Amino acid sequence: MECRIGVISGDGIGPEIVAEARKVLDKIGTVYGHTFCYEEILMGGCSIDAVGEPLTDEAVAAAKASDAVLMGSIGGNTATSPWYQLPPEKRPEAGLLRLRKSLNLFANLRPACLYGELREACPLRDAVIGDGFDMVIVRELTGGLYFGARETKEVGGVMTATDTLVYNEEEIRRIAKRGFDIARKRRRKLTSVDKANVLDSSRLWRKIVDEVAAEYPEVSCEHMLVDNCAMQLVRDPGQFDVILTENMFGDILSDEASMVTGSIGMLSSASLNDTKFGLYEPSGGSAPDIAGKGVANPIATILSAAMMLRYSFDLDREADAVEEAVKQVLKDGYRTIDIMPQSGMAQENDVTQVGTKEMGDLICQRIL
Ligand code: NAD
Repeated sequence: MECRIGVISGDGIGPEIVAEARKVLDKIGTVYGHTFCYEEILMGGCSIDAVGEPLTDEAVAAAKASDAVLMGSIGGNTATSPWYQLPPEKRPEAGLLRLRKSLNLFANLRPACLYGELREACPLRDAVIGDGFDMVIVRELTGGLYFGARETKEVGGVMTATDTLVYNEEEIRRIAKRGFDIARKRRRKLTSVDKANVLDSSRLWRKIVDEVAAEYPEVSCEHMLVDNCAMQLVRDPGQFDVILTENMFGDILSDEASMVTGSIGMLSSASLNDTKFGLYEPSGGSAPDIAGKGVANPIATILSAAMMLRYSFDLDREADAVEEAVKQVLKDGYRTIDIMPQSGMAQENDVTQVGTKEMGDLICQRIL
């Protein structure tokens, strides 16, 4: 198979972690007989520096011409970087929002899985962790509060800011279908999260989810209020399989779910439209505090590349091979700094700390 992959290395640790994911893809290509061709695409702070804007029309066209896009991360230190002196629509993140909208990436998938070997990194008590957890948050990505009309103006002499939260039934239906399709291939349980006791948009959300649920009788569907869900994620995370939710709730809950797994450096993500195309990126940001030091954890990006193999290229066997290689490396005791056991922990002496490149090499060696 031959695949054209657009590569957005981006800012901060982005280029370092993307290089390792490419190395792993190339190893998969060699072992399984595929060709991956890469085209570098500029986005974020590096694009501002090079051409004065975070995303050009040419960059959007290049992404559209690819079969899928692999991304590192964009942005810098929001307190000190000159990129954040620019008006909001010129900042690095504006490029990502525009790209998501241009590619109609309405479905964001964020798995949150606790690996047995990293149990100690989980901030929850042992009794709460139980047998561990493995969930995926399916978040609507192109509607809701982040895309509604907004303004700040003086009303009766008082500065007043307004944001609007809009969803139509079609937007809800297509993300709900994605959620149920994913649940059908997993443990067949879907939790739809809303705030239907207060918001009209949530009441419509719940009605449409119920309509879609009727088309998937094999998947059990429950509704949960977002405040309760935030509590349940730290009280009993093992209860969740697929969490389906709207844009802002998903933004917040997926970060919470990330944290209970112990490391942001382990968490992959995919943003999909209604074709095979997807944008694959780690859940974390550009980590300016560790950029250039060679210590960033590349696993989230490598697992994002595995999601690309699975969802965009239908290469399930190859995706499994990458995921197994990651598990094996952890079993063999290799850790980047972010997932090292804290001093005094039982496993402290059984693990070896490695850098970004070494971790990529170790994973490649386990793809046979
Ligand atoms: P961050 O995720 O970049 O960093 C938070 C903490 O996690 C830091 O201590 C960092 O060192 C650590 N971390 C993150 N990824 C890691 C990895 N792979 N390995 C080891 N440690 C890792 O969040 P932040 O500091 O709030 O944001 C920094 C910049 O990233 C901001 O400009 C923000 O807007 C941007 N950002 C971009 C994306 C994206 O590109 N999709 C997502 C989130 C944040």
